[in-house]
Amino acid sequence: MRRGIGTRHPWEDLSGEQFGRLKVLSREPGSGRVKYLCQCDCGNTRIVAADKLRSGHTRSCGCLRSEVSAARATRHGGTRDPLYAVLNEMHQRCENRNCYDYQWYGAKGVSVCQEWSLSNFPAFRSWAISTGYTSGLTIDRINPSGNYEPSNCRWITIQEQQRNRRPRPAKEHIPTPSREDEHETI
Ligand SMILES: [Zn+2]
Repeated sequence: MRRGIGTRHPWEDLSGEQFGRLKVLSREPGSGRVKYLCQCDCGNTRIVAADKLRSGHTRSCGCLRSEVSAARATRHGGTRDPLYAVLNEMHQRCENRNCYDYQWYGAKGVSVCQEWSLSNFPAFRSWAISTGYTSGLTIDRINPSGNYEPSNCRWITIQEQQRNRRPRPAKEHIPTPSREDEHETI
């Protein structure tokens, strides 16, 4: 049976498939480019063109991109003060529902104190310096269910933090890390 030009791939139905953080819910009606309604792990939904899913171009609602660029800025120093990235990520985890880590922070009621608002970066910076921040250290909450505030925070090494980290629930759709993942696009 021949179909019109609008349905280029009448055989394809990606519903139920997982692409990165996106789970395909249903095909969007309409002719032209084939698009799907997808649900991101972070809870957002987004309509994505089928070829963007297949090519690996789009692998999240956008939350992955912002996390990766924040991580990159921290790792390489970036153009900004690395401490700004630390503060920004803290706010993302606590306030941005699109942030992947929100489920372990904001969703659990963890917040950042008013003194450490993003617009008041110098206050955070001077606290950080006075409490012994050096490059390579990561911020840690002394009481893990407490908030980000001067009395509950200290600087520890990544290794120490990994030891303290609460185990995360296993998710079946997270692929085991492979060489390929290091080269993925978003
Ligand atoms: Zn997302």
